[in-house]
Amino acid sequence: MQMPFQLTILGSSSAMPTSERYPTAQVLNVLGRFFLIDCGEGTQHQLRRNRINYSKITHIFISHLHGDHFFGLIGLISTLSLQGRRGELHIYAHSELQRYTKFQMEFLGMDDPGFQIIFHPLNFKKPQVILEDKKLKITSFPLKHRIACCGFRFDEQPKEANIIKEMIKVYNIPIREIKNIKAGADFVTEDGKLIPNKDLVIPARKPRSYAFCSDTAYNEAMIPEITGVDLLYHEATFAESEAIIAAETFHSTGKDAARIAQKAEAGKLLIGHFSSRYKSPDHILEEAKAIFPNTEIGFDNSSFEL
Ligand SMILES: [Zn+2]
Ligand SMILES: [Zn+2]
Repeated sequence: MQMPFQLTILGSSSAMPTSERYPTAQVLNVLGRFFLIDCGEGTQHQLRRNRINYSKITHIFISHLHGDHFFGLIGLISTLSLQGRRGELHIYAHSELQRYTKFQMEFLGMDDPGFQIIFHPLNFKKPQVILEDKKLKITSFPLKHRIACCGFRFDEQPKEANIIKEMIKVYNIPIREIKNIKAGADFVTEDGKLIPNKDLVIPARKPRSYAFCSDTAYNEAMIPEITGVDLLYHEATFAESEAIIAAETFHSTGKDAARIAQKAEAGKLLIGHFSSRYKSPDHILEEAKAIFPNTEIGFDNSSFEL
């Protein structure tokens, strides 16, 4: 069975929430591990609505310290404490968030929430691998916003090919060779016949990837960090009619997002972070699709499976 690699959008609004849209927050479920990306106000409600158990969240990534991306954090920490959480919580953010959160917790008499919070300061100058294990690699990379801001890329690690069991018998393959064959080697039989690797294995599925580009002006500098990603989220706060405001506020239009997706050769583009001035972001979608047809709106409570 294919393991999950699923993105759920909790909020798609920018600075001000609307009656249909919460501020930015997303959950990425990678192989049963839940990563919370940004934590705008209302994240707790949206997690409930999407039946995502708070206790499953072990890592939180905060792109930048504008309120619409982290006002939900202290509330969530408070609830986790009330629920009796014991497991560590890792938070990747600007180093100043640690100071601010510590102050809030002390003020609230929550010096000891009952679990350890481990802060990991982000690097806003250059790309950095912030978490890596056998199954997953997570990289942060700088965006171009009014204040320090990072995007995040999640890559499933490449998997080994599966050896076709019957071939072990057919060619009398010794155990010690199996590892090499899974890694791509051909095999030479006892009587000197070369068996190409492709006849011995079922290739592994292509590793899946997701990149989150939070608040940013149009920024080609980040393209190397998001190249070839299967699913790209890129903010599209404004329509083309507000292109000047977008540039002034270090935000993007739908067209900007689409150009980045096109240059990065992304598989699919998701747009969000819409200004509250728009009742519906449909016209932003149309403008983006004119450049990058495989674009969708990351509506609140929508899910995307890779
Ligand atoms: Zn924002
Ligand atoms: Zn911002």
